[in-house]
Formats: sequence, C-alpha cells, structure tokens
Amino acid sequence: MTDFTMKTDADGVAVITWDTIGKSMNVMNQQGYVDMIALVDQALADDAVKGIVITSGKEGTFAGGMDLNVIAQMKESAGDNPALGLMNGLMATHDVLRRIERGGMDDKNKGGKPIAAALPGTALGIGLEIPLACHRIFAADNPKAKIGLPEIMLGIFPGMGGTTRLVRKMGAIAAAPFLLEGKLSNPQKAKQGGLIDEVVPADELLSAAKAWVLSEPKIVKPWDEKGYKLPGGAPYHPAGFMNFVGASAMVNGKTQGAFPAAKALLSAVYEGALVPFDTALKIEARWFTNVLMNPSSSAMIRSLFINKEALEKGANRPDVPDQKVKKVGVMGAGMMGAGITLVSAMAGMQVVLIDQKQEAADKGKAYTADYMDKGIKRGKASEEKKAKALDLITATTDYAELAGCDLIIEAVFEDPAVKAEVTKNVLAHVGDDCIFATNTSTLPITELAKASDKPEQFIGIHFFSPVEKMMLVEIIKGQKTGPVAVAKALDYVRQIRKTPIVVNDARFFYCNRCIIPYINEGLRMVAEGVAPALIDNAARQLGFPVGPLQLVDETSIDLGAKIARATKAAMGDDYPDAAVDEVIFWMEGEGRLGRKSNAGFYDYDEKGKRQGYWDGIAAKYPQADEQPDLIDVQHRLMFAQVLEAVRALEENVLEDIREGDVGAILAWGFAPWSGGPFSWLDIIGTPYAAERCDQLSEQFGARFATPALLREMAEKNQSFYARFTDQAEAA
Ligand code: NAD
Repeated sequence: MTDFTMKTDADGVAVITWDTIGKSMNVMNQQGYVDMIALVDQALADDAVKGIVITSGKEGTFAGGMDLNVIAQMKESAGDNPALGLMNGLMATHDVLRRIERGGMDDKNKGGKPIAAALPGTALGIGLEIPLACHRIFAADNPKAKIGLPEIMLGIFPGMGGTTRLVRKMGAIAAAPFLLEGKLSNPQKAKQGGLIDEVVPADELLSAAKAWVLSEPKIVKPWDEKGYKLPGGAPYHPAGFMNFVGASAMVNGKTQGAFPAAKALLSAVYEGALVPFDTALKIEARWFTNVLMNPSSSAMIRSLFINKEALEKGANRPDVPDQKVKKVGVMGAGMMGAGITLVSAMAGMQVVLIDQKQEAADKGKAYTADYMDKGIKRGKASEEKKAKALDLITATTDYAELAGCDLIIEAVFEDPAVKAEVTKNVLAHVGDDCIFATNTSTLPITELAKASDKPEQFIGIHFFSPVEKMMLVEIIKGQKTGPVAVAKALDYVRQIRKTPIVVNDARFFYCNRCIIPYINEGLRMVAEGVAPALIDNAARQLGFPVGPLQLVDETSIDLGAKIARATKAAMGDDYPDAAVDEVIFWMEGEGRLGRKSNAGFYDYDEKGKRQGYWDGIAAKYPQADEQPDLIDVQHRLMFAQVLEAVRALEENVLEDIREGDVGAILAWGFAPWSGGPFSWLDIIGTPYAAERCDQLSEQFGARFATPALLREMAEKNQSFYARFTDQAEAA
C-alpha cells in the first residue's frame, strides 16, 4: 500500500491520486516523494500516456503540508552531520519537483508531457509547492479552502522550491505577502493573487484538468526559456533594486531582526534572483538548511505547531464523556462579556447575556452586530451569518432565561462580593449539572468557589482582551475543581477554536504572573535612569510586540496601580515591588493613566496617535550618563518573566511545560522565535541560565535568584524538554 496510486483513462491521461494512509488530510513523508516520482516517471515513459493530472483522494482538500518527521529524518541521514543530511535531502526534493516541472522535456525544451495539479481544496506548504512545479494549477471553487505557504508562521520558510518558484512566477513584490506573512487565500482570491491558474466547479475539477492536459498546451516554464526576466525586475535592474531595498527595510522594521527565518527568506529571494533557476534552488536549500539548523526553528515548530495542536486536541483533557456546550449564560455585558458572547454565538451556541440593566445587555449584544457589520464590509461575513449569530443571543436582565444553560461564564466587576452574589443567584436558576466559570483576572478561584455549594463544578476560564482576537484561554482549576468542569471548559474552548492551557490556582494564575514582572522590570529601569527608548526597543528587538512601557500605557497605569495596591495588601511585609510602586503611583498622581487618558509614558496627539516619550519622565528620573548594554537590559526583561515561569512550574501552578511555552507566546507575545520561556532556557542551556541569574541577582536583587529547580538542572546540564517531556529534539 502506498499513498500514491495511478490510473490512466481511455484518452491517455494518467491521474495520480494522493491519499495518505491513516490521515484525514494528505501530508508528505519521505516515502511519498519516492512513490510520487516513480509514478510520474512511469507515466512519462509510457507512450500511451499523453499527460498527467496530480490530485487528492481526500474530499475537499489537497494537502496540509509536510510530515515534520521528514526534517528529522533528513537531519539523521548523514550521520553526525545534520546540515549535510538536510542539504542532501532538500536537493533530492528539488530534483523530484524539477523532474515534474520539466515533464520529460530535453535541454532544448522539446518533447515532454503536460502535468496539471487538480486541488479539491486546501493546499498548504508542500501541498502548494508541488502544484507550483506543475504546469497548470486547477482548484475546485470551494470557498472554505485555504491555499498558501504558511511556513513563516512556524519560524521556517517555503524551502521545497516554493520560494524560488513563487518569486519567479509573480515577482518579489507580489510574492511578499504570501512568503513573508504566510498569507492564506480561498481559491478565488488565490487565483486573483496569481497563486493558482484556474478555479472551476468542484464536480468539473478533474474533467477541466484533463481537458487542459489533452489540449497540447505549451509546458515550458518562463524561467526555462531564453531571455527570461523576473517580473518587477531582478536586484540589479533599477526597478528591482529599489524593491529589494524597500523589502529589506520593511522586514527588519516588522521583525526587528528577531526572526531568523524572515532574514533567511529574504536572502534566498535576493540571491536567488541573481542567478539561473537551478542555482537559485540550491541557494534556497542552503538558506533553508541554515534556518533548520537554528534551534529557534525547531523550538517554534515544537511550540506553535506540534504542542499547540496537541493542547487544542485535548492533550490534558480528563477522560470524561463529551461536554460540548449547547447553551451558555454570560454574566456581565461589559467589554469581556460582549466579546465572550460574540465568540460563543459564532461557534453556534445559544447565549443568554445578562447585565443589571436591559440597556447594558443590549449594548453587549450590539457588539456582535457591529463586529459582523465590519466583517460584511470586508467581505468576510454575510447578512445571513449576522442574522444567525444575533438569533442565538438573548440579551436580558431576567435570570429565568438561564434555565437549560450547561455553562455559565461570569464577567461582572472584579469584586469578590459582587461575584459571590451573582454566583448564588445564577445557581438558583440553573440545573444541577451546570458548570460555573469565572473570567476573573486576579481573584483566587478557590475563594470565589466558596459562593457555590458545588465547588467541584466551579472553574476559571480566563480570556484575554480583545476576546475575539486573542487565541489563548487560560483555564484555572480551584482546589476543589473536578474533572467534569475541566473537560467542560476544554470542550468549550475547542468549540470557539481557541487554544487552552490548564493551570492550578495561585496569585495571577500563570500568564499575568509572568507579564507583571516584565512590566515591573521596565518600570524599575525607568527609576534607575535607563532611557525609556532603550527599555522598549530592547524588548521589541527580542521579538515582543510591545515594550513594557508601551504595554503599561495600553493596559492603563491605574490598573497597574490597583493591582499593586491589592498585591501589597495581600502580601504584607513580603511585598517586593516598592521601587516599582514609586514610579506607577507617581504617574497615576500626575494623571498620566496611559492611552485611555491620552497621556502616559508616551505623549499622544488628539487622535490618540502615539508620539515620543513624555519629557516629564526624564525630569523626574534623569537619565544616567552611562546607559547599560542592550544585552543586559534584554536579559533583565527576559529573566524577569522566565524565572516566574520556572517558579510556576516548581509550585505546580503549571503542570506541563508545553502549556507554559504555548501560553506565553499566545497570551502576551513572548519572543515567539524562542518557542517560549522553557524553550528559551533550553536554547541558552540551563548551566548558562543559572550562572546568569547568579550575576543578575547579585547586581539587581533577589528577584533574579536562581530557583532550586533551575540550579539542580544546571548542575546536571539538563534541558527542560528532556526532563519534563519526550520532546528534547523537536524537529
Ligand atoms: P466591564 O466593567 O467592562 O464589565 C462588567 C459588566 O458587568 C458591566 O457591564 C456591569 O454592568 C456588569 N455587572 C456588574 N455587576 C453585575 C451584576 N450584579 N449582574 C450583572 N451584571 C453586572 O469589565 P470587563 O473589563 O468586561 O471585566 C469583567 C471581568 O473580566 C472582570 O472580572 C475582569 O477582571 C475580567 N477580565 C478583564 C480583562 C480585561 O482586559 N478587561 C481581561 C481578562 C479578564
């Protein structure tokens, strides 16, 4: 049994069907290349065959990409020289696709047989790179299908010829969004964008591809003809040169140089554009090898692909029957409640949205209408979808409407007394099996659960703002939370298509626990006279979306001050952040509350556009003549978060380091290139991490003290993934 089979019809068209055994979607593995090219070669050599169509045996999809084991197998194929193994493996793949592209033509472009790709639907990564090597790409008109090259999102780039072929097919500028941003399109848009050639009704896909193959089309690719010029101009053409200068600046501006794959991709494109096609493929393979040898790419693939998917599929779900939610009650129609209502209705659940006044509940429901209207304007939603979502939402003040709810999500004011009263009232109106979840961001779940007579059915479901955009949901188990509640929360998160992590109850749970020290370290540096621009830029150059000072402006200074006061009250003499409070309370006193007051660490214009840093900061905290090295500022910002993650693991708040890594990237944009806090520690090595913490704690204080777990692992030269998972080698 193989993944590829071939059947030649009476007209002489050989149809090669890809159908990966045991998978719902096709993925390419090492044997797949061998089997596919064997059939292509056989068809090319067969006089009865006039042309070939490559298609999929899976309904509605062509292929989801490459089996990641291929990379690991290539690395292992040349003994102790993984780079050589990769280079050889990639060149062998290029050879396979090049043979398809040449279709059996000789050096003078004579002879040969046409090969068409027929895509029933989704075609991603290698699933598009194979079609790009064919002579014409047909796709079924399936609006749900996604076509594109998303590799860059995983810290790699299209390295099976996709980069070189797309740039030659459409020019560097047109290819940029597909390569650099991993943009995915439906078939119609993919055709408009030039990714594919024809879109036909699904039931005519094969006949259209066959008819084209039999029409004796010209099959030589433009880049295999004499005098070929890159669309838009190659680097040494004046027009092309400016494109590349612009692209380089744009990529560096966007990535701050923190993502090795983006740089390598650009190099492959630029250098490849200067040379003939086959040499360009070799250059692409070298840069791809370079990226795959960088620990960043394996860490990113492990966190953002393998582990993210595992968590979404329920890696940590208790073994209890399906807990799919049918009717959810959302308490509080403010910012969070409105967002939770939106995502729940979009997932097809019935939603009862309750607030104190009908007006407030209606306003919360209107958020869904507004959101759908924006989608309709951008062509992403329809009136029908909008009506369907709104139909599912009942906005009311009447608790009786909660009857039949199997899940409640409470998002009222962050006040334990208000929450307790709401909990009691709700429980009087719902059935015995209903699970009650709170969206609190700071209050301990175990305490809030005391308002319920069924604490095993009480849980935290912590969303991030804005709900519809943020992909992570943090599920928090109180001391008495039972497995059914956990399963319910996980099944709900799966329904709304977000990524869950499950943690134990402790102050600030996991995510906020790590974000706060990041912000605080930035504030401490302000008090020390470090230039604000150095603080924020150091973070951005690490790949964080925003620096700590910008982040506190966005989330608001008074919220920071409120959290500081509450934490101090709870911790008493153990409270460690007096230096931070000095800055934050001063800002609060100055009325500089951040973006919402149009004044914070930054100045803002009347339209709310961020200007430079407020000069009052330098007046209060004069900048030191000697500024610290960039790397020292970066290490303070990184270790402030990472050590908190290690402590969360030590204290069993985190039970699974995969959740620690995935959660950090999705919740607060923790340097994605690193794969997350634990992956970063593995990249720099635990011995170095412990040594660096010793230095930092001596210089800056006990908050950097090496946690016992890290110390022990450093002594054994152990990595987190080796110790806590079976994924020491990711890909
Ligand atoms: P918000 O002030 O925008 O909304 C709260 C809503 O609850 C208001 O509409 C209010 O009228 C309603 N409400 C208050 N008491 C009520 C009662 N007794 N019955 C029914 N409705 C009542 O607040 P928000 O930002 O949406 O936050 C809500 C919860 O979510 C808080 O616990 C907060 O800590 C948490 N949270 C907020 C964020 C965030 O970024 N804003 C993020 C995660 C979690």
